[in-house]
Amino acid sequence: MNVNPLLQDWKTPYGLPPFGSVQAQHFEPAFERAIAEHRAEIDAIANQTAAPSFENTIAALDRSGRNLDRIDNFFHNLAASETSSALQAVQVRMAPVLAAHSSETYMHRGLYERIDALHAQRESLALTPEQRRVLERYHFDFARSGARFEPAAQQRYAQVMGRLAELTTRFGQNVLADETAFQLVLRGEVDAAGLPEFVRAAMREAARERGLGDAMLVTLSRSHIVPFLTFSERRDLREQAWRAWTTRGEHDGEHDNRGIAREILTLRNEQARLHGYASFADYALTDTMAGRQGAVLDLLKQVWEPAKRRAADEQQALEALALARGEPGVIEPWDWRYYAEKVRQQRYDLDEATIKPYFPLDRMIEAAFDCAQRLFGLRFVAQPGVAAYHPDVQVYEVRGADDALIGIFLHDNFARPTKRSGAWMSSYRYQSRNGQVTLPIVVNNNNFAKGAPGAPTLLSVDDARTLFHEFGHGLHGLLSNVTYERVSGTNVLRDFVELPSQLYEHWLLEPEVIARHARHWQTGEPIPQALVDRLHAARRWGQAYETVRYAGSALVDMAVHSRIEKEPPADLPEFEAETLARLKLPPEVGINHRLLHFQHLFSGSSYAAGYYVYLWAEVLDADAFDAFKEAGDPFDRATAERLRRCIYGAGDSVAPQQAYAAFRGRMPSIEPLLRKRGLLVADITT
Ligand SMILES: [Zn+2]
Repeated sequence: MNVNPLLQDWKTPYGLPPFGSVQAQHFEPAFERAIAEHRAEIDAIANQTAAPSFENTIAALDRSGRNLDRIDNFFHNLAASETSSALQAVQVRMAPVLAAHSSETYMHRGLYERIDALHAQRESLALTPEQRRVLERYHFDFARSGARFEPAAQQRYAQVMGRLAELTTRFGQNVLADETAFQLVLRGEVDAAGLPEFVRAAMREAARERGLGDAMLVTLSRSHIVPFLTFSERRDLREQAWRAWTTRGEHDGEHDNRGIAREILTLRNEQARLHGYASFADYALTDTMAGRQGAVLDLLKQVWEPAKRRAADEQQALEALALARGEPGVIEPWDWRYYAEKVRQQRYDLDEATIKPYFPLDRMIEAAFDCAQRLFGLRFVAQPGVAAYHPDVQVYEVRGADDALIGIFLHDNFARPTKRSGAWMSSYRYQSRNGQVTLPIVVNNNNFAKGAPGAPTLLSVDDARTLFHEFGHGLHGLLSNVTYERVSGTNVLRDFVELPSQLYEHWLLEPEVIARHARHWQTGEPIPQALVDRLHAARRWGQAYETVRYAGSALVDMAVHSRIEKEPPADLPEFEAETLARLKLPPEVGINHRLLHFQHLFSGSSYAAGYYVYLWAEVLDADAFDAFKEAGDPFDRATAERLRRCIYGAGDSVAPQQAYAAFRGRMPSIEPLLRKRGLLVADITT
């Protein structure tokens, strides 16, 4: 305890954090020292006597705080992927301290004056295009964080940001607490009726990990709950699981998110008003490609009505099937996935249990790596001797076409009680070469249910798509090729950030990728062509359900963040219900995330008034993949090279509209998206 490894030289492979030797209590002293160091760096930049130049102000600012960043990134990655009550306590205590430091930095009067002076002379500074963009981004960051406010307003603004940091931290912890607390224990055949063997195996493994002997356990991990709702014949248990899943965050007691979400909304409103905006959505959307609420709502409306009409068709098919089986023809929300799977089996002769053996996790990882090699010349070299924060995490060197090391990749694929739900990419370090060359360290997190010891982990097609999605984000970090960290990798506008990830999903079901990699885990036999054909034929089945659930959540997000009243709704579940009733959401379909566990909006803030970004990016990714189709080859060299240069490698060094136009030769069209989702008028009427 005398030696704090965070405060020593990190004599670790590749500059990875000293995973093995760090304990929760090491973080606070390390944060304190790193914050003090960063404050001194900022003061030195602001107080120098030399006139402001790009190099002595912007480049220096971009280089500052690296020690704080590496501690902060280590801490937040650990808190998300391998948390403990000790880490959670540090998280709650540090959130306002880190927010205060951020406010102090971005409201630094002396520093802002230098940046503002440079910004005013930007035409005459002979900057490279990247430097020009970096200057504009920093100038905007400072203005957006209140650098221009009067001192009293700055003080209040810093309070608001500090409190928001604390509340959003607690919101996420509460959701995790509800997910961990829930245990639906299945004992014997009666409870497990309908569940295929791969689902049972995953649930037995979850029970074993929690010391529940040979029972089966359904947790609120998505990789348990979705298969359970899809296959369980026990309507009563489906309802029980569904109710627990959809009411996370909405229980009396210490993990109740009702008051927290309301206070977050109140403070966001105040934040927006201090900046002169009528609503938080108006404020948040100024820094996006969409730019304004109207553009977002236009896009959502283009899919909302057609998707609802198609969902009604899907519902009729479910009701007909239920009646034909002599069951009640009323589809409750906990019945939808169950009957949808039955219809899928009937129409396309396709069931998950037949498909999954061809999608073992190991082979799908190979597939993701192989596509990266064919597109971008990358090689992923496993480093089994390098340990991370959990034995399940794999560390890879990433090597470019000339075999040079370009970054480090950590792959953390399995669900466990210490990990938050969902799937995400994050960075331990960003690529840059401002002063010194810094290679990126990137992590992908998934929450796949782990196969039993000795048995493989088998993925659904959706799981495999998630694997590719996060890997696409990973490539965005790893292929970054810029000078300044401010515009590196995934540091792009948030409605552009899902383009590299969603685009990468397209390669998963490309015929030659499937033929090469989708092989039976036992026999090594390639997936039969007839099964692939049925998989493609079935692709649109269930799309309307997914589209309505997604767009419903996006519309609630916009509704709750575009209110101009000072006070948020008194009762958020009621507000949500009223909003959805006004939109005529079919209640049987529901939405992806209800407000009180909507972590995109309330755990961190990056997707508040921004859940729409997935659809926005889908317009781009559907249109972008067409470039490969037009070239007649999913791995066309020239197209891939342009994609690497303009999109995956460019970070935010180029404005997103320009970056996209440079790749595609024109702006995107929405048609490929509507076609992909089966929502073109022609699709609906036929
Ligand atoms: Zn994503």
